[in-house]
Amino acid sequence: MDAVLVINADLGPLHRVTVQHAIRMLCRRVAEIHEAEPDQLIGVFPVPRVVRLVRYVVTRWRFNAGPAWSRAGVLRRDGRRCAYCDAPASTIDHILPRSRGGRNTWKNTTAACYECNQRKGDRTPAEAGMPLRREPATPGWAALAGR
Ligand SMILES: [Zn+2]
Repeated sequence: MDAVLVINADLGPLHRVTVQHAIRMLCRRVAEIHEAEPDQLIGVFPVPRVVRLVRYVVTRWRFNAGPAWSRAGVLRRDGRRCAYCDAPASTIDHILPRSRGGRNTWKNTTAACYECNQRKGDRTPAEAGMPLRREPATPGWAALAGR
């Protein structure tokens, strides 16, 4: 069995990844070792059995199966308006940036104009002082069907 269990920052189990993937998460410092095989190393790391995310990831979407996430779906859900300034939006912003473990989920992505996306950069809305005008939600199927 080579799969490593990933648990959330609150210790809730999320999913399994390969050992290689887990090591990459450790290298990128998005996760820390929670449990490891005794006396086995891969490079500088103990062989992980369980890794824990450094930052809490909102997972309610996992239990609330709606339409699959897509960039086009996010733009449509948000009416192609920027979540930060309400200007016409053409880009997708990751609320928790991808570089910090943020994922392509309905609740972690929002439509944004190019300028706001650039300005926010690698920060959370709170860090950037850019409050969201609306809370991103998982859309129903009907909301994506229109137009
Ligand atoms: Zn904007």
